[in-house]
Amino acid sequence: MFVLYKRPILYLEKVPTMPTIEVKLCLACGKAVKGRIDKKFCDDSCRNNHNNQLKAEQTNYVRNVMNALRRNRLILQHVLGDKMIRKATLDRLLGMGFQLKYHTHFYDNKKGRHYYYCFDYGYLPIDDEVIWIVKKKTDTN
Ligand SMILES: [Zn+2]
Repeated sequence: MFVLYKRPILYLEKVPTMPTIEVKLCLACGKAVKGRIDKKFCDDSCRNNHNNQLKAEQTNYVRNVMNALRRNRLILQHVLGDKMIRKATLDRLLGMGFQLKYHTHFYDNKKGRHYYYCFDYGYLPIDDEVIWIVKKKTDTN
């Protein structure tokens, strides 16, 4: 018998290019989120976890700043003692844990001097080393 061999046919399959799938990750657990493109969380539980985490971080931040402000006030109060105004060195305050970046407000007096306040206690920098500590008079302004 005569056998007819078929020539092999080379099929050039067109390889489909992978569509770029944007995988959104859950903001809480980091797993891939299925569903709408604007979905940020797997479910309500992940959403709640994330929101609670955010709230805790904000609460921590506010608490830390408030603690720093209270500490600054206590240091000013301690160094000032029962006087109304007193000279001190910045070094002394810093050595007690005073943090210059935290103050509640400013006060510019008529001479254009810039006082920094931590609640009712303030200080006026004279130079890089010396400050005057003051206590705000009890009238509100
Ligand atoms: Zn999740």
